[in-house]
Amino acid sequence: MNLGLNGKTALVTASSKGIGKAVAEELASEGCNVAICSRTKVDLESTADDLKRKYGVDISWSVCDLNKSADIENTFNVVVKQFGKIDILVNNCGGPLSGFFRDFSEEQWILAFEQVFLSAVRFTNLAISGMINKQWGRIVNITSVSVKQPIDNLILSNSFRSGVIGFAKSLSNEFAKYNITVNNVAPGYTLTNRLYDLAVGRAKHSGLSHEEVLADMAKQVPMNRLARPEEIGALVTFLCSNQAGYITGNTIHIDGGWVKGLF
Ligand code: NAD
Repeated sequence: MNLGLNGKTALVTASSKGIGKAVAEELASEGCNVAICSRTKVDLESTADDLKRKYGVDISWSVCDLNKSADIENTFNVVVKQFGKIDILVNNCGGPLSGFFRDFSEEQWILAFEQVFLSAVRFTNLAISGMINKQWGRIVNITSVSVKQPIDNLILSNSFRSGVIGFAKSLSNEFAKYNITVNNVAPGYTLTNRLYDLAVGRAKHSGLSHEEVLADMAKQVPMNRLARPEEIGALVTFLCSNQAGYITGNTIHIDGGWVKGLF
């Protein structure tokens, strides 16, 4: 299937590793010029080189802490300077701290709000005018299955990711007339550095090895395995395609059947 993405420009945030990198890679494989950003220059350079070598597309990278409004503006300016436009915006972020209600100070709540929710608002605010002018745009937010089924020790994620869903639904209604779609992808357990670190952390407290912790996670999934990052990337890329032009305002979970509810 030709997804019609050749020559489009995609900005994928928090994308030097993990799901963000996998999304950037799938979009590059469809011929998109891709902009990546995260906090660490050396990781960005290595990811950019990797994508350029494999797919021969143009890659832009910039150091950006999603908690900092000035960094977000700088990233936007770098991308527009290099590519002249942003057709596709994929709002991804680092996962907020894990913990229960009484574990967090007000300051930590504010940091998680900025990272998970406000970063998506800020990037969208910068990118939306260009999409309106072109009468074409795709916005995809990477959230989590926690928006369908909250996870016990992830109260920061549970709280702010649901806000992203409400934000996206409102945007989808407001901007559909400009041929701009807005959707959310909600991954389940996906084998990235973050999940690996989480398993190592849990292993320390449980007396299990991290391999056993990962195997336990997989057992909770009807598919009996963890997701591969590229599977998330493929779904996001389809949502960005011309073929997906009538899908908007949706939250699609990709979790091997982990969510027990109907929707
Ligand atoms: P990861 O830790 O492997 O990668 C996260 C990326 O975000 C890295 O490139 C990192 O450098 C970047 N990053 C972190 N904090 C940042 C900041 N403040 N500013 C800019 N960049 C920053 O994580 P992942 O597993 O790929 O997860 C990506 C997102 O998907 C997270 O929000 C995570 O909570 C969510 N998610 C992950 C899973 C999973 O099982 N891996 C499941 C559901 C949801």
